[in-house]
Amino acid sequence: MTIDQQTTFADVFGYDPTVRYSAPGRVNLIGEHTDYNDGFVLPFAIDRRTTADIAVREDRLLRVASAFDPDGGIHEVSLDALDPATMNGWSTYVFGIAWALQDRGSDLSRATGLDVFIDSDVPVGAGLSSSAAIECGAALAFNDLWDLGLDRPALARIGQFSENNAVGAPTGIMDQSASLLGAADSAVFLDCRSLDAEVVDLGFAAAGLELLVMDTNVEHAHATGGYAARRASCELGASTMGVPALRDLAVSDLHRAEELLDDETFRRVRHIVTEDQRVLDTVRTLREQGPRAIGELLVRSHESMRDDFEISVPQLDLAVEVALREGAVGARMTGGGFGGAAIALVDQAERERIGTAVSAAFAEAGYTAPTVFVVHAAAGARRD
Ligand code: ADP
Ligand code: MG
Repeated sequence: MTIDQQTTFADVFGYDPTVRYSAPGRVNLIGEHTDYNDGFVLPFAIDRRTTADIAVREDRLLRVASAFDPDGGIHEVSLDALDPATMNGWSTYVFGIAWALQDRGSDLSRATGLDVFIDSDVPVGAGLSSSAAIECGAALAFNDLWDLGLDRPALARIGQFSENNAVGAPTGIMDQSASLLGAADSAVFLDCRSLDAEVVDLGFAAAGLELLVMDTNVEHAHATGGYAARRASCELGASTMGVPALRDLAVSDLHRAEELLDDETFRRVRHIVTEDQRVLDTVRTLREQGPRAIGELLVRSHESMRDDFEISVPQLDLAVEVALREGAVGARMTGGGFGGAAIALVDQAERERIGTAVSAAFAEAGYTAPTVFVVHAAAGARRD
C-alpha cells in the first residue's frame, strides 16, 4: 500500500491502536556548540510533536510503520534479535531504542511485542530535532508498556545512546533532554557535564512574546566537515589551555588564551567561553527581569557564531538582520550552522509583519524562500 499523511494505524495494521504516546521537537534558545564542550544549553520543547499509536501484541515482534515513509510498508524486528547491524533506514530510530534499553541493562525477556504507527508534524531536517521526537516518544512508550521503571533523564540517555550507536550520529543529549523534560512556556537549562537539568520559566506568554522560526531551507552543505573542524579546534584549545574541556575556562581566562593560541583557535575558544556565559546570563535574566531583557544576549550569540565560530551563512545573517531591523526583541541563528534556521523573539502583534519582511528580503536577495512559522514552548513527552 502507499502510505501518506492521511494514513492511520488501522489502515496499516487492520485494527485499532489502544494507546497513544507523543513527544515534541525542540528549538535551542541559546547555547550553541557548547554541548560537546561540557557546557550549558537552554533548549525548549515545541508545540510540534511526533505521535506513536500503539497496540500490544501477543508475540515478540516489534513492528513499525510511519506516515512519513514514502514506500509504505511495515518494518519488523524480533525482541529476541535486537542488533543495530541488522537495522537500517528510519525504523532504526524506533528499533534502536529497544536495543539501547536492553544493552543498557533493562530486562526485555518478558516484554511483549508491539505494533507502532508513527506520525509527526515536526519538520524533518529543519533543525527542530524530529529525530529526538521519534526516539523519545518510543522510549517513553517502551518504558511504560514494558514496565521498565526508568526516569526521564535515564530515558534521555537511552535516546542519545541509540542515536550515537544504532543510528550512528555523534550527537549530544540536548535534544532528548528537551523533548523529555520540557514544560509549557518553559525552557530546559541543561548542564552538559553533570547532565543536571532545570526547568526555567520563559514567561513569553505573559509578556505577549512569541518565537518565530525562520528556516532558510539552505542545506547544511558543509555541516559534517565544518562540525568536525570546530570540534577539533575546541579540543586543541582546551588541551593547549590545560583544561579537560572549554567549560572549565572563564571569560577572564581569555587574555591568556589569546596569548597562547593561534588567531583562529582563539576565536573558536572565545565563542564557546562567552556562549557558556551567555546561557548563564540568559537564565539569570529570565528569572530577574523577564524575557524582554534577553534580546541583547541573543544578538551577541549570533554575532559570536558569525564572526568567531564562523558557522553562519548569508541567509541566516539576513534573517537575523531583518528581524531585528523590524523590531524583534532579539534574534540569532540556531542549531549547528552552515544552513538551517534562525529564531527571533517577537511581539505577538508584530509576528506577521516581521515574517513577511524576512520573506521579502530573501526574495529581493534572490535566495530560496524561507519557511517562517511560530513555535511555543510546550510539554515534553507524554502518554496522551
Ligand atoms: P532532525 O534535525 O529533524 O532531527 P535528523 O537527520 O537528525 O534531522 O533526523 C531525521 C530522521 O529521523 C529522518 O530522516 C528519519 O529517518 C527519522 N524520522 C524523523 N521523523 C520521522 C517520522 N515521523 N517517521 C519516520 N522517521 C522519522
Ligand atoms: Mg536530529
